[in-house]
Amino acid sequence: MRRFFAGKVTENRVFLLGGEAEHFSRVLRMTAGDLFLAAHQGKELVCRALSAENGEVCAEILETRDCPGEPSVDITLYVAYMKSDKMELILQKAVELGIGCFAPFVSSRCVKKPKEGGKAQERFEKIAEGAVKQCGRAGAVRILPPLSLEEVLWEIPQHGAVLFAYEKSEIALRQVFEQIREQKDIALIIGPEGGFSEQEAEQIIAAGGRSVSLGRRILRGETAAIALTALTAYETGC
Ligand code: SAH
Repeated sequence: MRRFFAGKVTENRVFLLGGEAEHFSRVLRMTAGDLFLAAHQGKELVCRALSAENGEVCAEILETRDCPGEPSVDITLYVAYMKSDKMELILQKAVELGIGCFAPFVSSRCVKKPKEGGKAQERFEKIAEGAVKQCGRAGAVRILPPLSLEEVLWEIPQHGAVLFAYEKSEIALRQVFEQIREQKDIALIIGPEGGFSEQEAEQIIAAGGRSVSLGRRILRGETAAIALTALTAYETGC
């Protein structure tokens, strides 16, 4: 069954609006009587279209069910700013792998900084939405505006566990997962191309971040972000 994002939901009706309605009627040539799935607030609604006209699809809800692709662990990915194509790649892959929140931040060795009033946030939201739909999730991924490292430090204690990818760490990821397997709120921190300064690394650890090694080689930031997210998703079964 085709999947769409619900635009509006009432007690027993679903409405597809804007681009979703357009996709339904014009692109897929679907019409009244067709069955489809509508994603809404983490749930999956099985629907039958009643009408598709004037840029709006109205459908009856046949069943409301949990969405099997919806993550069971809330993973926040803090990523130091890199070039926008790398950020977009990380975001798309991380959403497929199950993150709930994407949080770019700026640290001292970031070569790229987010542009003031730039369109990055909008683009990130579009990419996340596309990935949510493609991979069979039903809830929106939160995209935070760029944070400072200080803000990341304040947020660290609010998570159940924070894994901080640090190339100088000698702590194996396997060892840390043995201690946090039941955690339902996990944050991951990835540094910039230039890495973290010693002082920044110490601040992250002092705030409660657990430094972890991703192996004996130095990975590019985007490789580290995707690898750590995939390993976290695998280990937690999220
Ligand atoms: N400039 C640094 C490496 C930065 S790599 C250097 O050359 O030493 C970018 C980010 O990826 C790092 O800040 C870290 O978060 C992560 N990373 C890369 N390789 C890693 C590894 N082997 N273990 C843990 N984290 C790693």
